[in-house]
Amino acid sequence: MSDTRSPIQRHRTHAVRVGDVYIGGDHPVVVQSMTNTDTADVAATVAQIATLARAGSELVRLTVNNVEAAAAVPHIRDQLARLGVEVPLVGDFHFNGHRLLAEHPACAEALAKYRINPGNVGSGEKRESQFGAMIETACRHDKSVRIGVNWGSLDKALVARMMDRNAQSKRPLEARELMYEILVTSALDSAALAGRVGLPVERIVLSCKMSGVQDLIAVYRLLAQRGNHALHLGLTEAGMGSKGIVASTAALAVLLQQGIGDTIRISLTPEPGGAREREVIVAQEILQSMGLRSFLPQVIACPGCGRTTSTYFQQLARDIQDFLRGRMPAWRERYPGVESMKVAVMGCIVNGPGESQHADIGISLPGSGEQPAAPVYIDGEKKTTLRGEHIASEFQAIVEDYVRQRFGKAPVRVC
Ligand code: SF4
Repeated sequence: MSDTRSPIQRHRTHAVRVGDVYIGGDHPVVVQSMTNTDTADVAATVAQIATLARAGSELVRLTVNNVEAAAAVPHIRDQLARLGVEVPLVGDFHFNGHRLLAEHPACAEALAKYRINPGNVGSGEKRESQFGAMIETACRHDKSVRIGVNWGSLDKALVARMMDRNAQSKRPLEARELMYEILVTSALDSAALAGRVGLPVERIVLSCKMSGVQDLIAVYRLLAQRGNHALHLGLTEAGMGSKGIVASTAALAVLLQQGIGDTIRISLTPEPGGAREREVIVAQEILQSMGLRSFLPQVIACPGCGRTTSTYFQQLARDIQDFLRGRMPAWRERYPGVESMKVAVMGCIVNGPGESQHADIGISLPGSGEQPAAPVYIDGEKKTTLRGEHIASEFQAIVEDYVRQRFGKAPVRVC
């Protein structure tokens, strides 16, 4: 897992091991995702987890909501292993989680982490005992837990207690501030309870998800001020398409810039028929844009203007993006560092050569009325000019050759 040197000072948190992945401490921010298949449908769930993992999801969460789902989990883990997919699985538990974990030890063992929402584990006296039973199972199986508070399902008893106390306070908090306090208190009290049951802080990740950007930023700042638990970030119910991407990016970028957040998930609602792995790609793009991690060579493409009346350069930019993404699984193995490469695809020779010179490799396509020639720049110098029908495939061959030359060098032996 590569981590580019970043000027961002990370909030110091305890490192938490989840399978072979570490969250928090000095470890890079981890990308995770969640399935939307019926977990009891083993084939469909295996296929989706494999797709998410191959797209770069480093943890995958799946709902474990009934007996059938719990029984399916070990089979899902085994089938993934047979496909060579070793991604740690996170089980999402709610009201019946204590029973499912107790009655399905193979499920408890197959999962690398349990996600428990303290507002959804039962009410009254049962709440503490059922939460405690799940934590005991985590301790017994040496698993980590995410205590995931969600503002839509807060512990009602805690809400009532804190509202009463606030009403009697000499300086009562505003409704919104009180809500933040309730969320943070729910997370920290639950973490303290888990600690009393025997789960060490190095096994606990916290989250307090909200759907408003400013709310999420405010609540995570509080959470970071009050402790050193590893933190999972995500804007809940972010929405569909550009709205979900923009809202998630706005919230997460502010927090990540302040060093807050050890693992992220982008809760996008997929378009009908849309790819579930989009949420993984968006998470990677946020981290890479901020210089926190590198996953994929970046394509710098101009937006186009009146000089580019054809869609040719847009197609080339997309083809190059798809080519890089498609080649990455093989390149990642063979060419360490290739993910930091920058490729420029520009629409004309006005700004194109300048931008191309700043990239590792770049091409400027002919704009309207320009000579039908596409100069190619490598490491800041013009190397060749492509012409004719096959500019796209010839440029891809040049990129492939560049990757081999630059990133495929055998390490120098020191005698
Ligand atoms: S690089 Fe050329 S085509 Fe692209 S936006 Fe700038 S002027 Fe327009």
